[in-house]
Amino acid sequence: ETTEAETTETSETTETPEAPAAEEAGFAADAVIGVALPWLGTQNWAEADEMFKSKLEAAGFEAIVQHADNKVPTQQQQIESMVQNGAKVIVVGPVDGSQLGGVLEEAAAAGIFIIGYDRLIENTTAIDGVVQFDSIKTGVLQGEALLAGLAAQKGEGPYNIELFGGGPADPNAPNFFKGAMTVLQPKIDDGTLVVVSGQTDFTQAATMDWDNSKAQARMDSLLSGFYSDKEIHGVLCPNDGIARAVITAAGQAGQDTPVTSGLDAENETVTWIWEDRQYSTIAKPTDTLVSKTIEIIKALQAGNGLPAPDETTDNGMKEVGIYALPPLVVTKENIKEAFANDPGRLELLK
Ligand code: BGC
Repeated sequence: ETTEAETTETSETTETPEAPAAEEAGFAADAVIGVALPWLGTQNWAEADEMFKSKLEAAGFEAIVQHADNKVPTQQQQIESMVQNGAKVIVVGPVDGSQLGGVLEEAAAAGIFIIGYDRLIENTTAIDGVVQFDSIKTGVLQGEALLAGLAAQKGEGPYNIELFGGGPADPNAPNFFKGAMTVLQPKIDDGTLVVVSGQTDFTQAATMDWDNSKAQARMDSLLSGFYSDKEIHGVLCPNDGIARAVITAAGQAGQDTPVTSGLDAENETVTWIWEDRQYSTIAKPTDTLVSKTIEIIKALQAGNGLPAPDETTDNGMKEVGIYALPPLVVTKENIKEAFANDPGRLELLK
């Protein structure tokens, strides 16, 4: 079938060919590919911005890579203009997982493939697959790292802890929290962990827009409200920026460094882990995620259709195929091995 479609395309069209129906055949090898990123506020997104530009161009495509500064209407407009510019695939890291249905349905109706990048896209059928590091697994690893760090660094329990979540519009944030709580809740129930503030719901723990300064302000008020006569031993942190904000607040309040989890293996955190200022992070290498996404785009371009996903997840409207990559916990113990193939981060460990 593929061969027939290709033959038809080359024999009948000497001018610019009409785009074939997306599900029947590929598209031009120099097609426009759109990439709509949510913001550049954490290192992973800034890396994705650069890598998509360079790797898509290197693969022969014309790349339109934009970020929306965390604003839903900006992202909607950017996606609309990618549709108008003839994109054959649009890769989306949504600002808000559930606010893109309308514009993505337009894109899908135009035969454009839509791939979620790093974050799930919810409440729409206009999504062909998502490439991400497993989000529940990430949370489980964060919970486990927090427990392991407490046992290693804070003596016998019970341990006083607090819980932080990410931006509630990002579908990863509740999943990270949910995964972590599968590990932490039983330890809260048996008294090993004490959440001194009592703030154990995701809605209480969430950090609007993943804004580090909001996390730091919440940590300041938790410390002054609940810890004036107590030590804080650990904090569940959903990413590195929030971990550094929490650690900074604790230091300013005269506390010893609490054990924290993290995410992204940002350069600054790699240094902090090496200097014993942050206990753990999770590596989810951007180049792996971008390369996997481009592999899928190339399969679509060649007319091979979507590769088989690793798993599926319900986005509220359909079972979405997930291309799931494995997150890796990093502490000082394994940090050199973890970045053996990452000269940029390895360079920081000196
Ligand atoms: C990403 C994290 C990032 C966070 C804030 C999440 O969706 O998975 O890597 O730290 O967004 O930008």
